[in-house]
Amino acid sequence: MEKPLVAAYNRVSREAREKLAETCEVRYFEQSETLEDPVFRETMAEAAAIIGIEYEVDETFLEKAPHLRIAANVSVGYDNLDLEALKARGVYASNTPEVLNDTTADAIFGLLLAAARRIPETDRYVKDGRWQNTLPDEYFGVDVHHRTLGIIGMGRIGEAIAKRARFGFDMDVLYYNRSQKREAEEKYGASWTALEPLLEQSDFVCTMTPLTKETYHLMDEAAFRRMKSSAIFINGSRGGVVDEEALVKALQNRWIRSAGVDVFSEEPVPSDHPLLTFPHVVTLPHIGSFTEENENNMSLRAAENVLQVLNGKKPQDQL
Ligand code: NAP
Repeated sequence: MEKPLVAAYNRVSREAREKLAETCEVRYFEQSETLEDPVFRETMAEAAAIIGIEYEVDETFLEKAPHLRIAANVSVGYDNLDLEALKARGVYASNTPEVLNDTTADAIFGLLLAAARRIPETDRYVKDGRWQNTLPDEYFGVDVHHRTLGIIGMGRIGEAIAKRARFGFDMDVLYYNRSQKREAEEKYGASWTALEPLLEQSDFVCTMTPLTKETYHLMDEAAFRRMKSSAIFINGSRGGVVDEEALVKALQNRWIRSAGVDVFSEEPVPSDHPLLTFPHVVTLPHIGSFTEENENNMSLRAAENVLQVLNGKKPQDQL
């Protein structure tokens, strides 16, 4: 019997590809290819599954992939998948929740610490040979411990961040979600608030929602104006959750103190993006879930979803 064809693109670990290759034909594309590419186009015309990071799977794509049975993201976010279009064609969609919670929380909390204590700037200060005397106070950061963290989107990763904040740094945790999370409240002493008071009371505001129609530009000019002028904003979710022009304005006008940004509305972020012009703003290349160990864990989880569908079952992480 002919083996089903799986298109793996952009960061699917070797181990996961080998696992798939036991029962499938696997074609690997190292970067996200487009349908303009003839080999990718031919592959998609026959593929039963696509697995990888952030490929835009919409109606136009699905027209060219008539045999597709599953689009398996190697990420927890799935704003690249048009779920309605997939459903209409009976194609499964899956993501990789849970396995990346701690890894991503480490990165986002690290971003918060780096922005608060100005770690990248002072690293450059040392390496540039400018450390000749006592550090000038213009490089001083602000405390993280015993301050208030406001988490917008207290989901799996939001909770892992709350845990670090509460038990590692004695922080008070506020959160905003559409639903209240009683268990997280008990575990981390977190308090649910409406969005406005969270913005007004937090020393650090961290967005951790998915990008949806509802959360698009959730952090807009009005939201930044509500924040304390001493507060630091952290975006660990998706670029589209933040109106980046408003964030630039907030930094320029000092409505907020600083920011840490792991995700941008356009990635890779263009080198002339205004957010890159603030030395005290920490910018990362969407590294939240990227560790050596976790990349493989996520790829294996996505591969399991693919194999489940190709074996006639529902994917465990069905969206
Ligand atoms: P999750 O468990 O689904 O949590 C998302 C939370 O957001 C839920 O608690 C949800 O609660 C809340 N939410 C959804 N819509 C909302 C809205 N309109 N207003 C307020 N809250 C809302 O997802 P997760 O695994 O924690 O991941 C969250 C997101 O993080 C992903 O979707 C992805 O975009 C991002 N992420 C980024 C990286 C990175 O590398 N930086 C890595 C992994 C994930 P309610 O439904 O009750 O509102």
